[in-house]
Amino acid sequence: MNLRRCGLIAPVFRLVTHHRGFPDPVHCIGMLREFAAQLGTHLLDVLFPQACMLCGEAVCGAGLCAGCYGRIEKIRGPVCIRCGAAFSSPYGGNHLCGDCITRRVHYDCVRSAGVYAGELRRAIQQFKFNRRSMLAEPLAELAAGSCEPIGPHRGYAALVPVPLHLHRLRHRGYNQSLLLALYLGRQWDLPVERDYLRRTIWSVSQTSLRRSQRRRAVRGAFTCSSSRYTGKRLLLIDDVFTSGATVDECARTLKRYGAAAVDVLTVARTLRDHSECQ
Ligand SMILES: [Zn+2]
Ligand SMILES: [Zn+2]
Repeated sequence: MNLRRCGLIAPVFRLVTHHRGFPDPVHCIGMLREFAAQLGTHLLDVLFPQACMLCGEAVCGAGLCAGCYGRIEKIRGPVCIRCGAAFSSPYGGNHLCGDCITRRVHYDCVRSAGVYAGELRRAIQQFKFNRRSMLAEPLAELAAGSCEPIGPHRGYAALVPVPLHLHRLRHRGYNQSLLLALYLGRQWDLPVERDYLRRTIWSVSQTSLRRSQRRRAVRGAFTCSSSRYTGKRLLLIDDVFTSGATVDECARTLKRYGAAAVDVLTVARTLRDHSECQ
């Protein structure tokens, strides 16, 4: 039983650490209610265990079992300090990759938790295409826990999910990036902008396009509802980083409307070819 992931420890830990003296009774009752709610949820998990969405193994909480979670291939350093691409050599520190030296991009720092392959690819496909929205929690937790230097210490004014065009949103029923952002917003106590960035131009699936074609396909596809984040730092949230064309165009748009800096956090990234990993 993993008490930390089941959420039983957090309320008691906060109660003990936040109150050196005698705790405020109202706050104390609130903490105990939260503890009781978590305990009730955990008992339900024990009595009626849920199944891992990849292998069917019984799992505490929602989403993935420990085995599937452990087989996800994490992206480890060294990586490019801007686009987050992993270098093929495990030696040396983080530095700019050739792409980021020669090509202008609008995002400031991209980080992704794992390689888009194996269990992580299957989990994201279930999350996006099979209406397994419960996977938002373990996938967002994975992204939050393994993507230094991205985090609330960077002083983000808000989290901005990469938007879907209305046609695709209607077809899918939900925006997977918004679900990830909502979970991260709760964890980091940061506001989530649901409608600030909008996709106004519909474009066909980019999976078969080359990188330059992808950039042309998304050019001018986004707009912002105002300039209220002028001078602020924003964090874009997406599920997968592929060519980077979509998040770069989002970052360009956010900066055109005044944002001073735009970081990007994704759950996974594809390893396109060896030119990314020199
Ligand atoms: Zn599993
Ligand atoms: Zn780079």
